[in-house]
Amino acid sequence: MFNKILIANRGEIALRIIRTCKEMGIKTVAIYSTADRESLHVRFADEAVCIGPPPSSQSYLSIPKIMAAVEITNADAVHPGYGFLAENAEFAEICTSYKVKFIGPTPEQIRKMGDKITAKETMIANGVPVVPGSDGLIKDFNEAKELAIKIGYPVILKATAGGGGKGMRIVWKDEDIETNWNNARTEAKAAFGNDGMYMEKYIEEPRHIEFQIVGDQFGKVVHLSERDCSIQRRHQKLVEESPSPFMTPELREKMGDAAIKAGKSINYEGVGTIEFLVDKYRNFYFMEMNTRIQVEHPVTEEVIDHDLIKEQIKVAAGIPISGKNYYPKMHAIEIRINAEDVFADFRPSPGKITSLHTSKGHGVRVDTHVYAGYTVPPYYDSMIAKLICKAQTREECITKLERAIDEFIVEGIKTTLPFHKQLMKNKDFREGNFHTGFLNTFKLDPNIKD
Ligand code: ADP
Repeated sequence: MFNKILIANRGEIALRIIRTCKEMGIKTVAIYSTADRESLHVRFADEAVCIGPPPSSQSYLSIPKIMAAVEITNADAVHPGYGFLAENAEFAEICTSYKVKFIGPTPEQIRKMGDKITAKETMIANGVPVVPGSDGLIKDFNEAKELAIKIGYPVILKATAGGGGKGMRIVWKDEDIETNWNNARTEAKAAFGNDGMYMEKYIEEPRHIEFQIVGDQFGKVVHLSERDCSIQRRHQKLVEESPSPFMTPELREKMGDAAIKAGKSINYEGVGTIEFLVDKYRNFYFMEMNTRIQVEHPVTEEVIDHDLIKEQIKVAAGIPISGKNYYPKMHAIEIRINAEDVFADFRPSPGKITSLHTSKGHGVRVDTHVYAGYTVPPYYDSMIAKLICKAQTREECITKLERAIDEFIVEGIKTTLPFHKQLMKNKDFREGNFHTGFLNTFKLDPNIKD
């Protein structure tokens, strides 16, 4: 087992990893930018190294500075968390060359899944259903135009290096393809330095259902069932749950098998997520694979009662997994509490939290790095907390969430709590009747603010 793990991340996930390391008797090193000096991950780690000024490019994304911190502290493994360098094959490679274990898949596995076109080709070769679309990269606008007619509108243009919904455009008719093609490419170039585009049939009113998988170093891959992440705003998840209200035991078997096949096709090592779109007829299509721990992993932890960070560390240390799939024993829902003003188009709302009370009680879990007096810096992701509730049934789980949302008090900054409060009352949400476009028609009541 590892002696000391450096956590190449910040915020709630850094804290989350420190907790498991402590329980496993592993020492921890936090890294932080000057904006995060007062962060809890800095306080709770055994050691902490300041790696630079606030901008991520000069701190959490700076490989030389992180490797220097690894050397100074003599860490024997690095946990990348999510975001930042978690899916950066070069970083994984450099860790390996320093003889430091990167807690995650191999650089080759990251590369194979990081490029969405290569990933889709790998899935097709292994018999996993994918969304119909272009064969690889589209050469130029003329090809895009012809292809859209062949596939049939609506279509979706996607950046091969895409993430977080960037470089993605839905096109409904021929007149709009040119503007969308240009805009998506410009956006992809700016966000990823790569404007390679591909096209898919736009699946109407789909659900986003993803499978958690775990693979070990001996070729075994299992699934830990699904999470439904269909409640999204501009392709960004806001609410996640397990099991999916749309799931049937037959569909779970089929999708679980496909997810395992996807993992086995690259001998996947570590925890990972296979994302699918599911149409209203319960046809499912592979969309992409995330080769890291996800923000929404607690939902799975709660329903199967396992620590996924511990699984990651054990697999990285060469311990074999049990080899059996896991099925939900409970219902869990996670809501993302972001520092955003939901009544001003979800505009970021950084600043000082003057007072804070987090929800407590049976079946309630709060993963957060913030506290009263903490200042949310404007430089990073706006998520300040995840509130996760679990209960025997979905209905009880929603009732519990309503109670827990009422108890969660944040003063000084605006948060997404009023949105969640209103969502929990929505009839369609309560009945499990929603798809990824749900929020396009969801109307916030400006009079219900807390
Ligand atoms: P990113 O990596 O940028 O998050 P994804 O490929 O994961 O992009 O897609 C994000 C979201 O976009 C999905 O959850 C879904 O809501 C929507 N989406 C992507 N591809 C399609 C498609 N072919 N049809 C319909 N919706 C799609």
